[in-house]
Amino acid sequence: MIPFLSSFSMRYDRLPREGCADAGYGSEENYAYMEANGIEAYVKYNYFHKEQKKAFKDDIFRIENLYHNSADDYYVCPMGQHMERVGTRRDRTDSGYRTESAVYRAGNCEGCPLRWGCYKKRQGNREIEANHRLIEYKQQARDRLTSEKGLEHRSKRPIEPEAVFGQMKYNMQYKRFRHFGTDKVTMDFAFFATAFNIKKMIAKMKRTA
Ligand code: SF4
Repeated sequence: MIPFLSSFSMRYDRLPREGCADAGYGSEENYAYMEANGIEAYVKYNYFHKEQKKAFKDDIFRIENLYHNSADDYYVCPMGQHMERVGTRRDRTDSGYRTESAVYRAGNCEGCPLRWGCYKKRQGNREIEANHRLIEYKQQARDRLTSEKGLEHRSKRPIEPEAVFGQMKYNMQYKRFRHFGTDKVTMDFAFFATAFNIKKMIAKMKRTA
């Protein structure tokens, strides 16, 4: 279970159709979870803001800016050399989710005039890794976040949940769950959320009395 979803709902069978969260949650595992549960991800990833800057777009050495031929599965390096796929790197997250990155290698970096900015090692040829599933998820997230609805979500995000998290974590010192296991944590947070909402309701009643 991804932690930020608890802020939407305590009932997993009633998850909302749209999920909005900070860049820290933009992992492949979270995107895959949301996709599998029919949730549209309005979730930023690392570099979401950075990639819109000129310095990022103009950096010809970044893997994000290299051309990828998906039909024949190779990248083209800044010198125009094909970087062929030479392998696959497989990893597993702490929760057991499996990730896969394709590894590509340039044919010959020896004597390349762009080596100073592209590949710092003294020997060998440049290798890059690309997690194509994550790249696809990021593209989806990018399209959503820059749409009209995405801009609306982004404008609300810092106002709505952040203020609540601030009150929870710093004013009320609710920084950790006191129990282990999904059911107990659900109960733990449900009690806290109920008390929190009663507190808000009383404050509102006082204001309008
Ligand atoms: S260092 Fe290698 S990968 Fe980089 S531009 Fe030169 S040939 Fe291409």
